[in-house]
Amino acid sequence: MGAKILDGKALSRQMRSELANEVESFTQSHGFAPKLVIFRAGDDPASVWYAKSIMKTAAKVGIEAVEDLHPESASQGELVQAVADLSADDAVHGIILQEPFPEGVSGAALVAALDPSKDVDGVHPVNAGRLLRNEPGFVPATPLGGLKLLERNDIPIKGARAVVVGRSDIVGKPMALLLLHRHATVTICHSRTKDLAWETRHADILVAAVGRARMITGDMIKPGAVVIDFGTNYEGDKLVGDVDFDSAQEVAGFITPVPGGTGPMTTVMLLWNVLSAAKAAVGG
Ligand code: NDP
Repeated sequence: MGAKILDGKALSRQMRSELANEVESFTQSHGFAPKLVIFRAGDDPASVWYAKSIMKTAAKVGIEAVEDLHPESASQGELVQAVADLSADDAVHGIILQEPFPEGVSGAALVAALDPSKDVDGVHPVNAGRLLRNEPGFVPATPLGGLKLLERNDIPIKGARAVVVGRSDIVGKPMALLLLHRHATVTICHSRTKDLAWETRHADILVAAVGRARMITGDMIKPGAVVIDFGTNYEGDKLVGDVDFDSAQEVAGFITPVPGGTGPMTTVMLLWNVLSAAKAAVGG
């Protein structure tokens, strides 16, 4: 018997429709829609594609999403000023800073100019600190989507042994903290972990956030474990996860497929964050 699929496509559709209802009632009460600005400098194709896909989904749920575009040649000073201007604009509720930034421009300087109350991507150190302390703030959308897949499928987290492979600031670390705050016993693995397979084999909940195609194989998974795969890797035209799906699904109890698992959840969670920012801006 194979693992049950944690279907991110279906859950993202459902959460999109719940969001659309909430946005509609916000807009009716306040006379304006929540507004997201996607800040971008240059024409990186992946960044252009991601911005378009956010705007498409935003339109479906009634959130206004626009781009704030700057030339690749813009200086750090100009870009910092532009972020500060957006931060000061009362009509803007959420801002995301699309990477990559032009050469020589410090991402940290741009993030520092961002008002934490509009940081719907959860990249500002203030929001990272709030997550660390389990205080209300913005959490990066990708790990938030992974958490929703667990919660909405009634997967117990409290007391579970969770192993997160990957320690980036936008996926691995926040996912580890989200699980910790829900009372999992959490281990974080990375490129210097001595015996990765030993660690992963002890996981009730195994999270992969590495960026290496199929590196976690079935023999590294505890029978019945829940596997959350954030990996997005291309093998030619084919999108594959960090988990080797075919061998993993024979052992695991639950698993997110790639595509169709964590991926579809990200944009909808980001847009939920935009609604939260808009609600906070109007005082609740
Ligand atoms: P990063 O490259 O920032 O981090 C990768 C992490 O994996 C690092 O902590 C690194 O360790 C660790 N790592 C690398 N090699 C190994 C190894 N051999 N064994 C154990 N750990 C290793 O990646 P991101 O966190 O940004 O992204 C992770 C994956 O998630 C990628 O596939 C990315 O495309 C995907 N992603 C998916 C999203 C979605 O919507 N589903 C959104 C964002 C990202 P160390 O710290 O020691 O270098």
